[in-house]
Amino acid sequence: MTRRLRFVVLALGLVLVTAVSAAAKPRVAIVATGGTIAGAQPNTAQGGYTSGVFDIQHLIDAAPLMKDLADIKGEQLVNVGSQDMTNEIWLKLGHRVDELLKQPDVDAVVITHGTDTMEETGYFLSLTIHSDKPIVMVGSMRPATSLSADGPMNLYEAVAVATSPEAKGRGVMVVLNDQIHYAREVEKQNTTALDTFHSPNRGPAGHVSGEHVTFFAPPATIHGDQSAFLIDSLDALPKVEIVYAYANMGRDFIDYAVKNGAKGIVVAGVGDGNMTKAATDGLAEAARSGVAVVRSSRTGSGAVYRNIEVDDDKLHFVASGELNPQKSRVLLMLGLLKSNSVDALQRYFNAY
Ligand code: ASP
Repeated sequence: MTRRLRFVVLALGLVLVTAVSAAAKPRVAIVATGGTIAGAQPNTAQGGYTSGVFDIQHLIDAAPLMKDLADIKGEQLVNVGSQDMTNEIWLKLGHRVDELLKQPDVDAVVITHGTDTMEETGYFLSLTIHSDKPIVMVGSMRPATSLSADGPMNLYEAVAVATSPEAKGRGVMVVLNDQIHYAREVEKQNTTALDTFHSPNRGPAGHVSGEHVTFFAPPATIHGDQSAFLIDSLDALPKVEIVYAYANMGRDFIDYAVKNGAKGIVVAGVGDGNMTKAATDGLAEAARSGVAVVRSSRTGSGAVYRNIEVDDDKLHFVASGELNPQKSRVLLMLGLLKSNSVDALQRYFNAY
């Protein structure tokens, strides 16, 4: 081969390699867990339906344009309504997502999930997955068989968010109804409306319209790589119960939780994490016996600070800050793996 010919062959090779790598799409693994997004009605005229019926391939086939955004691989972890989510499934999901994100050929993970407990699963993953690759959770409010099902568009937009160059390092996000939320901030606030997810304290993480993704402020609390919590070798989580406060609340459920082996109790307090004298006495006794007690609020927004109307220092209670009761339970379970001291747990609630 002449020198000139060798040069031409080399140059062509270089152009080819550049073209191929420029065309290489991000690789997204979709892990399916069920929910309404995979739900089916007996017939489309009926409101009734069953969550977690269709499998992952059905969901992928319903949003074919995703393939323009990414190379997609799907897998089915479980197929349940998220009202049936358990600690065991969280650990199984956490281990699998961790494994996937460690693979060099996976750039992001999208998780399909029911909306009922999506905020809890998302927060659990944001505390326990040590990766800066994007993790996006997605669901739908209407079953896959309904008129105007919202699942396919939500899934497409979840993949758009997961493949956005700006998604890295933002921790676990939730995408639904053209909005992006941080898992730590988001709450399901409406039983059936498409516009059910809100981040009442800090606002949404951004918005998405088709493939156009815009992020607002970065997440404000510790997550991902920076988190102290690891689930590598875990196969169970400590038992933590939630008791709901109301006028005339007694202490029966608190006493029952302690007797039944709870290591922690979260109270969904009225207002600023308050409860009746009877319930306070029950919780104080629980705290004295070594059960961790966290005061959260049933109001749906705002923060519970220490020592406002309740003397947390004296009663050995932890204040939940901005975490609602169900998210407080998640953090308390993980915190209890490390310590049950009020100081240590309060530090976690202040930082995470
Ligand atoms: N119950 C359903 C679930 O959480 C609701 C939904 O997905 O929207 O699985």
